[in-house]
Amino acid sequence: MRAVVTGGAGFLGSHLVDLLLSNGHEAVIIDNLITGSTDNLAHLAGNSRVKFIKQDVTEFLFVEGPVDFVFHFASPASPVDFLRFPIPVLKVGALGTHKALGLAKAKGARFMLASTSEVYGDPLVHPQPETYWGNVNPIGPRAVYDEAKRYGEAMTMAYRNFHGLQTRIVRFFNTYGPRMRLDDGRVVPNFVKQALLGEPLTVYGDGSQTRSFGFYKDIVDGAYRLAMSDYAEPVNIGNTDELTILDFAKLIIELTGSSSTIEILPPLGDDPKQRKPDLTRANTILEWHPTTGLREGLAITIEHFRARLATS
Ligand code: UDP
Repeated sequence: MRAVVTGGAGFLGSHLVDLLLSNGHEAVIIDNLITGSTDNLAHLAGNSRVKFIKQDVTEFLFVEGPVDFVFHFASPASPVDFLRFPIPVLKVGALGTHKALGLAKAKGARFMLASTSEVYGDPLVHPQPETYWGNVNPIGPRAVYDEAKRYGEAMTMAYRNFHGLQTRIVRFFNTYGPRMRLDDGRVVPNFVKQALLGEPLTVYGDGSQTRSFGFYKDIVDGAYRLAMSDYAEPVNIGNTDELTILDFAKLIIELTGSSSTIEILPPLGDDPKQRKPDLTRANTILEWHPTTGLREGLAITIEHFRARLATS
């Protein structure tokens, strides 16, 4: 299979590229490097099964040769980026999805949209099944991401229903692992970096908000399984081990052996109070279950960040 991966120089995108290559496929990566980095692809230098195109995917996508699958993974994904790059976030989720779908249609390729638990907004149903329509503020600080992804899902279904395209929608919950940017702003790199540097861990709000963290290996494995299935409805991919952000801060301090303290900061606007996937669909349809425990995945991630900090 020859696959196009938009956002293939990003955290999840580059791990997906590695998985595709290890399964014998070829990858054409398209990324404008706004948040991605060629450092994530450095180990692939000289690999004849990989091609890199530096391009903004909101512009017309031209790929020479056959394409069997388009994975649309491009987008900044940190709430900090939603404030730094609001227009690019809107454009990549909306116009970028349109261009990626157009490429898939032109090539007769299958298509996967990397969507998000943010389509559920600040959820009033817990845990969140795919059938939940969400509670999203259309003009809030996260709206640029949430609404663009919701639009992207609608666009994906329209291409399926109107053009007969073979489409998949994966809704990723919080993910973590090596290759996240140290300055990404999300809670895992923030807390780990702060703990390793002996700085206070910055908890936004009272820390009672919950998240469930999925290790990148499990996450890209779940996405790949969905891609290879013939299931067209959205599927949640994540981890069901839920904990409060305050407990998460304590866990990072414990696992890093840090003497850092915890600093309580004002809450972020529209910060979801609870988040945990209902994974019944992934369990039954894909026979997929996450296998990496939080402590195990964090230990690997902490060592990765420790090495990065030592060389930065
Ligand atoms: N968070 C925090 N301190 C930080 C970064 C994040 O307390 O330095 C909290 C944030 O308010 C949210 C949770 O951690 O409740 C997860 O934030 P993240 O930015 O990783 O992603 P989100 O799940 O909000 O999209």
